[in-house]
Amino acid sequence: MGCLFCKIIAREIPSQIILEDEHTLAFRDVRPVAPTHALVIPKKHVVAISDTTDEDALMLGQLVSAARRVAKQENLTSGFRLVINDGPDAGQSVFHVHLHVLGGRALSWPPG
Ligand code: AMP
Repeated sequence: MGCLFCKIIAREIPSQIILEDEHTLAFRDVRPVAPTHALVIPKKHVVAISDTTDEDALMLGQLVSAARRVAKQENLTSGFRLVINDGPDAGQSVFHVHLHVLGGRALSWPPG
């Protein structure tokens, strides 16, 4: 099992976990780009959004629900952004689906 995020789920690699439930795990990004920068991942290994099917709709909904709870827990009352990078053009660097939760400062648009 070579997946970095599967190792974080298995506690083989340390991380700052901020939320966990049956299906998802949320932890702080090691290279934060905003005052709050968390990653929400499914416990099931899925490589990328483009690899998912309609059968994964429940899991994808669980990710967004967990992200909403992270934002509330982190007190992001003036707004936050959810980002999923898919593939090389988007700069995906870890091949286990993850949703970035960014907040704590004003975020510019469009993203780079
Ligand atoms: P992406 O570029 O969308 O694939 O995002 C991968 C994210 O994982 C990056 O923001 C990295 O900083 C983050 N990351 C990489 N290794 C770790 C780690 N061991 N713990 C927490 N975050 C990590």
